[in-house]
Formats: sequence, C-alpha cells, structure tokens
Amino acid sequence: MVRTCSLLLLVWWATPLLGQGTTSSGSLRFDPNEVDKSAEPCADFYQYACGTWMKTHPIPPDRSAWDPYYELAEKDADIVRGILEGREQGQGEDYRKVTSYYAACMDEATADKKGLEALDGDLLQIAQIRTAEDSVVALAKVQTLGADALLAFYPNQDLKDSEHVIATLDQGSLGMTDRDYYLKDDPDSRKLRDEYRAHVARMLELSGLSREASLAGADAVLQLETTMAEAMPTREQQRDPTTQYHKLTLSELEHLIPSWPWRHYFAALGAQPVTSVNVTSPEYLEKTTRVWLGLGLQARKAYLRWHMLHTMAAALPSSFVEEDFHFYGTLLRGTREMQPLWKRCARLTNDALGEAVGKVFVAGHFPGGAKERALAQIRSIQTALRDDISSLDWMTDATRQEALRKLEVFRIKVGYPERWRDYTGLRVSRDDALGNAMRANRFEFVRQARKIGKPVDRDEWFSLPQDVDGYQSTALVEIVFTAGLLQPPFFDPAMDDAVNFGAIGRAMGHEFTHGFDDHGRKFDERGNLRDWWTPEDNARFEERSKCFVDEYSQFVVVDDKKLNGQLTLGENMADNAGLRLAYAALRNKLRSKPEQLVDGLTPEQRFFLAFAETQCGNVTDQTARNRLLTDPHSPGRWRVNGTVRNMPEFQKAWGCKPGQPMVAENACRVW
Ligand SMILES: [Zn+2]
Repeated sequence: MVRTCSLLLLVWWATPLLGQGTTSSGSLRFDPNEVDKSAEPCADFYQYACGTWMKTHPIPPDRSAWDPYYELAEKDADIVRGILEGREQGQGEDYRKVTSYYAACMDEATADKKGLEALDGDLLQIAQIRTAEDSVVALAKVQTLGADALLAFYPNQDLKDSEHVIATLDQGSLGMTDRDYYLKDDPDSRKLRDEYRAHVARMLELSGLSREASLAGADAVLQLETTMAEAMPTREQQRDPTTQYHKLTLSELEHLIPSWPWRHYFAALGAQPVTSVNVTSPEYLEKTTRVWLGLGLQARKAYLRWHMLHTMAAALPSSFVEEDFHFYGTLLRGTREMQPLWKRCARLTNDALGEAVGKVFVAGHFPGGAKERALAQIRSIQTALRDDISSLDWMTDATRQEALRKLEVFRIKVGYPERWRDYTGLRVSRDDALGNAMRANRFEFVRQARKIGKPVDRDEWFSLPQDVDGYQSTALVEIVFTAGLLQPPFFDPAMDDAVNFGAIGRAMGHEFTHGFDDHGRKFDERGNLRDWWTPEDNARFEERSKCFVDEYSQFVVVDDKKLNGQLTLGENMADNAGLRLAYAALRNKLRSKPEQLVDGLTPEQRFFLAFAETQCGNVTDQTARNRLLTDPHSPGRWRVNGTVRNMPEFQKAWGCKPGQPMVAENACRVW
C-alpha cells in the first residue's frame, strides 16, 4: 500500500506478470517503419503509430490483453524460467528454496493426490466456530494467509508522521473485484452476479461441502459482499488521502466499535502490540463489523471457507485451478486459455521468493552501465521539471518553493534493491505445493506485521527487479525503475536520445509528476499528508485539473461507454506532464547538437513515435469494461491521443492544423 502509483498497475495487479502468452514478436526494438501508413498522424496518432502493431500482435489465447509491456514481461519470464529450471544457476540456500518451490508447484500429480491436506488445520478451525469471538479469531487466521476477508489489515507509513509505520484497517476485497458489479442493475452486472454465485458454490462443493450447503454458502457470500460494496467509498473517493486518515489509539478504536474483540483479533493476527491504527473508513468498519457479528454461524463459516479457497486458488489441486480460471479468466476477463503450468508456477515462485529469484536475474541481465545511464536520464528529467516549476505563471512563490524542495529530495531507485530480502525461516518442501504457498503467505504476513511500530525502511522495494515496472510512492517520496523494465523497447542504449526520451524518458517524467498530481500534491517533501498549497494556487490547480477531467470524460472506450475522467485524472495528468518534461529534457540535450534526420524522421518525430509505440495494445472487450471501472490509467489510445492533442510541440513536429482531431480546441495543461 506504500506504492501509490504505478506505470504498470495492470501488469502486477490485474493479470499475472509472469507467464505471458505465447506470441513472440522477435525484436522489441523501436521501428519507425511499423507505422500504419493508411492513417493520418494528425487525425489519429495512435492509429498511425499502432495500427500495424495491433494487426500483427493479436491477443494470445491465454491472455486478456496484449501490449509491449507484456511482450517484454514475456521475455523476462523466459529468463526467469531458465533460473527456476536450473539452466542459469544461483547460489546458496535461497536458490535451493527457489528451485524446490518451483519443482513442487510443477508436480501436479502429487499436489492433486494431497488435495487440501495442508488446509486441514485451518478448515477445522472454521468448522469449530461456536461463538462470535471464535469467528473473529478465525477471520484473523484467514487474513494471515493474505486474504483481505471483510477487512484488510496491513502496515502503512503514518500519513502524518512519515518516519513511522502504523497498523492500517482498510476495507476488505470483493470477489468480483469492484463494487459496481454488486450494485448496478444492468443485465451484464446481473449476469455476472449469477455466474459468480455459481462459481463460489462450485469452489465450496469441490472442497467437500454438500451441494445444498454450497449453494447456501454462495448466497451468504454474495449477500455479505453486497453489504461490503454498499459500505465502500468509491474508487474516486479513495483517491483523496485526506478522507482516508483516521488515526485512533487502541482504546479509541475499542470505544468506536466496542462489540468487536479487538485485542483477540490483533493477537490472532500476530500483530501485538497495536497501540494506534489508521482506519481508512470508520463508516465501513462500523457497518461491516456489525453485520459480521450479526451473521448466522453457517454464513460466517461459508464466507471464511470461500475466502481461504479463493486466496489459495492458484496453489490448490487442478480442479480448483480450472474452476478459478473459468470465472476469473474466462468470464471476468475474456481470456480463452489458461497459462501453461510453468508460467503459473513461475508467478507463484516470484510471489513467494521474488527477491531470491531477482538476485540471480540481475547478476546475469542487468549490465553495469545501464544503471548509470538510466540515472543520468532521470536527472535530466528532474532538471526539466525544476525549470518548469520555476517558470510556471500560475503558481505563487510560496507554493513554488515548497514544490521545488519536494522535487529535490526525491529518492531515485534504479535496477534492484541495495539490500536483499532475508528468507531464513521460510520452510520449503519439494513435494508440498499448497503447504509451501501457505507458509510463504504467512511468512510474508509476519514480515509485514513486524514493521508496525518501527521506523520506515527506506531501502525496501515494492516491486521485483525482474518485473517490468516503474512506480512512484508519494509517502516515501521516491521513484523506482526495475531492471526488468530498463530494456528495449523502453530503454535501449543502442538507440538515439530521441527514442529513449520518448519511451522511458516520458515514463520517468510521468512518475515524477505523480508526486504533484491530484493525490501526490497533498503530501509534502517528507511524505507527510500536509496542505502546502496557498488557497489561490489550490484553486488554480483545481481549475486546471478540471480541464483534464472534462477532456478525458469525452473519450469513448468500449461499446458506448466513456472514460471516467475523475478516476483517471492522476494518470492523465502524469501522462501529459511526463511527455512534456521528456520533450523539454530532450531539447536541452539536443541544443548543442545539429539536428539530424534518422530514418527520414526528425528527432521530434522519433520522440513522439517512440512514445506512442510503447502504448500500443489490444484488449478484450470484457477486460476493457473491467478496466473502465477499476483502472486509474486510460487505455493506450487515449494515453497517446489525449496527450499529444494538448501539445503544440507535437502539432509542430507533424504539421497539424487547427480543427484536426490531434489539435485540442482548449489544450489542458498543469505542468
Ligand atoms: Zn502512473
């Protein structure tokens, strides 16, 4: 939860990173000849840059979307496979754990034979629930597996005391991923609810419950989750951190919700002593804990059993894995085929022992000079942002000084962590896939719980080096780019500056400006939630951001559904500012050099084309609908067209005239 904005939210969140599809496109290098010559750059730049790519890169059957990020992740996945299968070897006990974990996961026959054996103790505890207090303790036990059942409990930086980690009580997660699916009454949502109910029932039945009990259990799950959905703030509301901060002492919490046995609950989580806690939504907590305590015994048992199966689904015997894919892969995301076993096992191994895998990955695939060159490029973007903030005509000096101070202290992390994670204490067995996964989840839960009450560890990474990822953290005031990302087509030492600034440079600018978007600007240079804006700057900022909300709300995404300009505001602002900053940094760099055509294109044209080509993508309609509700990023077409139409520099580079679609009538701009 520390990472707040990600270049690649989709890759780590909506779909497994590793185990990408089977298409291989050969070189991932920037190629200006791939443009769609039937399209006009000034009419639809995305179509011009990506038309050919879209035709030649269909969505692989085991995916619900496809783009250059996935392509690169596919390449990285092959490297990881080599590490897991021993063709590229690491050293020591950690590496032995990695290969054992993977081998156990690959041994489907043994996993099927063992069935739910590893879950026996937990299932028994659920079966033996008699009292409300038992049910709270069992709930906590399920949460230690990583399930956000009813509530989510995790450590987080104190938003107003950024040096310290405190406990957080947040809303739980919903089986159908978004509250709208529970609350909307259109035919699609109703159909999905029926399918979800059937899915929950089948999972319960597979675990040994009678048909009748499974159906009743599924009804109870749907009912409880609907109550949770009703009590949840919307995703747009959650973007405002000031509404998510309610720090309470333990006795205040006990006073707020006296019926919940808090001390037993925290003890069962293994998170003692909890002295203060941030409750993101007191209304949600009050309502859902009350509902939980009023539920019938069977409903509570069914919900906990379901959550345990759901959370562990990927590591369960194959009948569960298939049922899980049927709902989440096929029905919810429109994926046609399940990923092959090795890819699923690679993902699980990364989840459990990611940095131990990453250590081997970095040793063989992140050349020494790459880090320095990437760092130098990030610094040049930082300089461009400094120049920009210094010269903004709408900002007063008081706010400007604060903004500049914040920019100067940004921590920049490139490649891989300085200090690797310690996996001592995690027991891995070569013939117990489910047991391994459960132990790994609980090992991670303990690691997280131990942070509570301690100073913030500023060296920690929230992404793996082998991931294709970049992110910004508002609370830590840092930006991070992984070794897995710093490769073609995003970062390519063999290419000219124009291409590198368009591809990775704009991503660097994007991450920097997240520190100043609708969410990030509420945090100061120490990562504290503090309003450092004068009222007039605040009003000017709001007015300028409204321009983006209005602009992006007009873009049609799928069917006749339009983008949610409020939900995507932060990403859209970062996209616009990121491209502008990368452009300015490129101009600074080229100032001393004579302008040269490469492949018949000016550096400016190559810059915009390289940017657009990183955003090409294909996506199933189901996933497009799902993203519309849940994804703070705009789809590729609008990340490109929405951005360039606001830039006179683009229009000059391609000779666009007023009235053409890539020339906005009222161009939006904040940074
Ligand atoms: Zn972003």
